[in-house]
Amino acid sequence: MDGHGRVLPYAGLAGPFLEREVGMATVETARGPVDTGELGPTLMHEHVVTRSPGVQENWPHLWDREGIVAIAERKLAELYDRGIRSIVDLTTVDLGRDIDLIAAVARRSRVHIVVATGVWWMPQRYFHAHGVDAVAELFLRDITQGIGTSGVKAAIIKCATDTAGVTPVIDNVLRASARAQKATGVPISTHTWAAGRTGEMQQAIFAQEGVDLSRVIIGHSGDSEDLGYLRGLMERGSTIGMDRFGLENFLSTAKRVEVLAKLCAEGYAPRMVLSHDANCWTDMLSEDAKKRTRPLWHYNHIPDDILPALRKAGVSEDQIDQMLVRNPRAIFEARSGARR
Ligand SMILES: [Zn+2]
Repeated sequence: MDGHGRVLPYAGLAGPFLEREVGMATVETARGPVDTGELGPTLMHEHVVTRSPGVQENWPHLWDREGIVAIAERKLAELYDRGIRSIVDLTTVDLGRDIDLIAAVARRSRVHIVVATGVWWMPQRYFHAHGVDAVAELFLRDITQGIGTSGVKAAIIKCATDTAGVTPVIDNVLRASARAQKATGVPISTHTWAAGRTGEMQQAIFAQEGVDLSRVIIGHSGDSEDLGYLRGLMERGSTIGMDRFGLENFLSTAKRVEVLAKLCAEGYAPRMVLSHDANCWTDMLSEDAKKRTRPLWHYNHIPDDILPALRKAGVSEDQIDQMLVRNPRAIFEARSGARR
C-alpha cells in the first residue's frame, strides 16, 4: 500500500469511498500498483492487441511488434488527450494475451492499463482436459504471483459465454473464475451473447459457486435493448458493461444511447460501466474491414461522440462521473462483497 495522505484528483466526487479508502487501496496495473484514486475516467473493457494464438509465432513475417507498439502508443496518447486515464485490457490467452507487449505499451503511455487473467469463449483443449481447480490455480497465479515472468499481476478475471451457451469447457472456466474470485477478491468481468441472455446463466453458476454477484460485471450487456433482462442482471447485484459502443452490428449507437439514458433515468447509473471492446491492433479483422464495417469502433468514440450524446439524452454529469470514474474505482477497491 502506498499513497497515504495524498490528495486524490477526484476526491470531491468520491463520496462514501473517500473516508474509508483514502490512501488505502491500490490496483495492480501493467506498470505496477496504482492508487485507485488515480484511475480516473476508466474504460472497463478494451484490448490493446487481440490475435490468433500461435499464428504470428509460426509466421513471424505477419508480426511487426515495434510497429504495433507504436500504433498503441499513439492511440493511448489520443485517449489521454481526451481525458481517459485508465483502460482495462480483458485480453485472455485464447485472444493471444501478450503480457510483455502490454507492459511495453504501458511503459510508453500515461494511461493506466489494468490486465486480466481468464479465458474467452474459444478455449484451448487444456481448459477442458484439466479440472476446475487446476484452471483456477492458473488464474490465481496470474493474480498473486504475476503473469509469466513479467511481474505484472492480473487484477480482474475474464470469462465468456457465447452463442453455444455453457458447454462443458465453459462450465469449467466459469467455475474456475468463480473460485479464483473468491480466493482473491478481484472482480470477474464477462463476455456474453446478450441476445441469448447468457448473463443470466453466468450469474446462476457464480451464485452456485458462492460468488457475491456484486463482484461481477456482466459484459456486452449494452448489445441488448431488453430492459427486463438488463434490470434483472443489476437487481441481482451485478454491474453491467455498456461496453461495445461503436459495434453497430450488434446494436445501433442510437439504441445504445437510448437504453443507457433510460436506465440512468431509472436510477441504475451505480451499476453500469462504459467501454468499446475496441483494440489498437487485431488480426481477427483486417484494418480495411474494420474501417469499412465498423467505422465508429475505436477508443475515441465514447469521449468524442457518446458522452455528448448521453448529455443530450438527459444523462447528468454526475451520472457520467459515476459510470466512468466512481464505479470502476469502487469495483477495484472492494475486495469482498461490501462494495455498495
Ligand atoms: Zn473484449
